[in-house]
Amino acid sequence: MSELRVAVIGVGAMGAFHVDSLAHRVRGARVAVVADADADRAAGVAAGVGARVETDPIAAITADDVDAVVLASPGAAHEKQVLACLEAGRPVLCEKPLTMDEPSALAVVRAEAATGRRLVQVGFMRRFDREYAALRALVESGGIGDPLMLHCVHRNPAVPEHFTSVFAMADSVVHEVDCTRFLLGEEITAVTVLTPRASSASPAGNADPMLVLFETASGRLVDVESFVRTGVGYEVRTELVAERGQATIGLDQNLVLRSAGRWGGSLAPDFVVRFGQAYDTQMQAFVDAAARGTVAGPGAWDGYAAVAVCAAGVQAVTTGRRVEVRLGERP
Ligand code: NAD
Repeated sequence: MSELRVAVIGVGAMGAFHVDSLAHRVRGARVAVVADADADRAAGVAAGVGARVETDPIAAITADDVDAVVLASPGAAHEKQVLACLEAGRPVLCEKPLTMDEPSALAVVRAEAATGRRLVQVGFMRRFDREYAALRALVESGGIGDPLMLHCVHRNPAVPEHFTSVFAMADSVVHEVDCTRFLLGEEITAVTVLTPRASSASPAGNADPMLVLFETASGRLVDVESFVRTGVGYEVRTELVAERGQATIGLDQNLVLRSAGRWGGSLAPDFVVRFGQAYDTQMQAFVDAAARGTVAGPGAWDGYAAVAVCAAGVQAVTTGRRVEVRLGERP
């Protein structure tokens, strides 16, 4: 196959970034087809990269001139579209969340297993970030001994009004769920959410910041500070505490400037700046694997586990109780 022909479904903020990545920064692929519920948006994005437009996303997924699919439609559309990819035997990079609830996510896991192939990659791009990859390699090497705890920070400078504590769980804490599973190599078994005094910027009845605690199968503890209205910058940090050392990533130390009597670095304004390299590396890995008829990195089970842990997290933040995670059987 000379160039992988990709259909991109949903070309809002994330999908448009993926189109740009495929067209300008990733080797071995081109955007062949674009589909979006907003026809004008689809036409505009397609024209920029010489792709054609399909109005029906399922027709784009099954088209003869498509080899692989990138799904960046809203989460509620993923289930139907990812199942269509499986039925058509097309490798798919599906943005998180895999689906909106546990039964449908498990149904996707089973549908993929029935194909006998790995066809679903879920867009947990942090696994492709250089710093996260280095931390995982350190854990695997055993260099600082057995990991015991993770301290995670997820801070946004500002978010829209609809960004409630429940929304934050599914939209941003979900990445910490996957990082925990990726770095520690085990499942999360329980979630507790503690809510300190709320920021005056937090909408009434919402917990911002919140402290999310994960327990893992082997008894490790992970704390996540989720604070999405800091007014400061986009900050994602992780400290791993192990038996013989600690390791920290996300210190924003790319450039330390001395000027006009001051000293310091700068914070990324948003996730695209902080994780731009990770999104592109993720896409390159997807394209390389899809050219061989498969996928790379986090798969359907990882997407399902994240949906299940976030569902427990939503229950924990709404009831104030510790909620156990009970995963279905892995096929
Ligand atoms: P967005 O609202 O900017 O874009 C969504 C696009 O999908 C819109 O253009 C909309 O018209 C279109 N659309 C709506 N229904 C559709 C359907 N049924 N079929 C095809 N297109 C449809 O949203 P976004 O921020 O780009 O988010 C898209 C997905 O990407 C979500 O699942 C989101 O969680 C995920 N996302 C992931 C990350 C990450 O860090 N991995 C970051 C941002 C968004």
